[in-house]
Amino acid sequence: MLLLPATLSREEIPILFHEPHVMKGFRPLHYPWMSYFLSLFQWHNELLNIWTHLLALIMVLVRASMWWTEFDLLRDPYMWPLSVGIITMIILYVCSSGAHCFQNRSELVHYTCFMFDYAGIGLYGFGSTMLHYWYCLHESFMGSLSHQLAIPVGAILAVLVCICCSISKTKYKRPYPFTRRIWQMSSVASIYIWLIFPIWYRIWLYVHTGEWDPSFKHHIRQMCWFTLGGFFFGSDIPQRFFPGTFDIIGHSHQLFHICIFMTTYEQLSALYLELTGISVIIHNMESPTLFNTWGVLILVVVCNSIVVYLFHISVERKLEDERKKEDKEEEDKGEGVLKEKAELKSNSPNRKSANGDGCDVHHRNGVIH
Ligand SMILES: [Zn+2]
Repeated sequence: MLLLPATLSREEIPILFHEPHVMKGFRPLHYPWMSYFLSLFQWHNELLNIWTHLLALIMVLVRASMWWTEFDLLRDPYMWPLSVGIITMIILYVCSSGAHCFQNRSELVHYTCFMFDYAGIGLYGFGSTMLHYWYCLHESFMGSLSHQLAIPVGAILAVLVCICCSISKTKYKRPYPFTRRIWQMSSVASIYIWLIFPIWYRIWLYVHTGEWDPSFKHHIRQMCWFTLGGFFFGSDIPQRFFPGTFDIIGHSHQLFHICIFMTTYEQLSALYLELTGISVIIHNMESPTLFNTWGVLILVVVCNSIVVYLFHISVERKLEDERKKEDKEEEDKGEGVLKEKAELKSNSPNRKSANGDGCDVHHRNGVIH
């Protein structure tokens, strides 16, 4: 039977798989891949983490298919940044739902799955940089230093997100210290500040000039959802106050996923308004090239894949070393017990030595006493 058996409690699984303040609903380890895939239809504490991102993936695909008929996503160079942005969203949600779906299979799979998740987060940041710096610009921002550096800086930060989050995952052991969250949140916050900068600039202009744009409503909501997501991600609220109550439904990581779903939803709504009203501004800009759109996307994908591969290898070695160390300790323990037993036996007053004269026994007794 491929379906996973009943879920386990916190005490029944290795500490690596523990979640703060989550007490039950853990899937067992070491079942076939298909069993974890089929767990999409079973109750456990990762179920809603998977589905919240699968629904986000479906939402992005539906939007993309609608835009496919409206915009020439493949042949019009001015639409290439849009295609790249959509692809990074798809990669993020595939990686993240896959990570939550399969992470319980083994320790190595757990680490590797989340490294893919981090690679996807970095890519989404890069894709959003491309979207915002192409379609959400104010005319006066064009040609500025940050405009010129937008894509290279976005690409570097995307790789840094993957590196910093992977360090945070492999450097610390559960229960994780808050420093680990700082590694994750500071790298993600850096790329977010970079990608949101052109929008902040326009809102800042609005404050001074009163130049309102209908897309602002969605941009502001997007920022609010993202901030709320960061709050749930970092706070472990509500399960922190009611351990065990929100194990299956309502724990902070699920709420964080819902916030990220809404962030993407509002981002796409804003983009649509921008795309339908921007044609004059964007056509004043130099046409995107294959290199500064698809080329950089491929470069970031390759770099993040290398980061994931290197961390995967290092974790594999670390786990292998730990296993060898444990085996050695077990062996030493076993030898120690055998030695103790042998000594106890040899110390027995009734025992004669092998040659029958009892010298061995007397000598050992002398040493012990
Ligand atoms: Zn997640």
